[in-house]
Amino acid sequence: MKIGILSRNQGLYSTQRLFEAGEKLGHEMHIIDPLRCYMTIATQNPTVHYRGRELKDFDAIIPRIGASITFYGTAVVRQFEMMGVYSVNESVAISRSRDKLRSLQLLARRGIGLPVTGFAHSTKYTQDLIELVGGAPLVVKLLEGTQGIGVVLAETNQAAESVIEAFRGLKEQILVQEFIQEAKGADIRCFVIGDKVVAAMKRQGKQGEFRSNLHRGGSASIAKLTPEERSTAARAARIMGLNVAGVDLLRSNHGPVVMEVNSSPGLEGIESATQKDLASAIINYVSKQARPGKTRTRGKG
Ligand code: ADP
Repeated sequence: MKIGILSRNQGLYSTQRLFEAGEKLGHEMHIIDPLRCYMTIATQNPTVHYRGRELKDFDAIIPRIGASITFYGTAVVRQFEMMGVYSVNESVAISRSRDKLRSLQLLARRGIGLPVTGFAHSTKYTQDLIELVGGAPLVVKLLEGTQGIGVVLAETNQAAESVIEAFRGLKEQILVQEFIQEAKGADIRCFVIGDKVVAAMKRQGKQGEFRSNLHRGGSASIAKLTPEERSTAARAARIMGLNVAGVDLLRSNHGPVVMEVNSSPGLEGIESATQKDLASAIINYVSKQARPGKTRTRGKG
């Protein structure tokens, strides 16, 4: 098969691993920088061009679209879908996963356990919002934050109010969340391919840190999941419409709660923690699923 990996940086571990695994399995692999693609939009014959050439005869693409290029990146994915090329994660699902409020609303509607979460545009009734989510201690998060930046633990209602007002003063969008203290600074990353959790790791924040992000000095180890955790993660990915996803869970007193569903989950941390070849698993999934025009949302916004 001819498979394109849409990635800005061919030196990234995940991009490299997917490329090598694909070649090893006998596929023709290409790494395409989505920001360098240009496109024609026409009723009859939509095309994607790259470095002076038309990208033709691709059987499948694997989007690895970073959060900072969601807008243009998903337009490129959509264009491939319009050409009938199978995309392992569809453009609509990627866009959906990038909007935290929309994702949490979708998951809540389908009965997935979530930390009690509140959000508001105006700061006029901040005290009321704090009470609605159960009061301090609370986690305040920037909607656009990644790698734990902009995730703040407020231990008192007064601190929560100040943080919310400071963020809103900077015109940042935020959400306010129940603090899952019993998770003890750890979360669980479940790696989903198709409808199965194929690997899971526990990330533990360094001492005195409630955020478990590896970028913040957290450490990773293999995690053994309960059946409930397994089914929650698989369902969350399905609800989002993602075939490849990283679902982040917290172990709360009221069962597993989903924090986030990531549409371009990194391979490095989880492959080394679990010793699993996830890159080959993704390629095998793609080669089983890819058929011309299979992308269900083809043509839809
Ligand atoms: P990012 O997407 O920037 O990584 P997260 O929402 O995943 O932000 O939060 C970063 C880390 O903070 C999580 O991995 C988790 O360890 C911790 N955390 C986030 N929300 C909560 C919460 N409501 N209760 C307890 N810990 C939390």
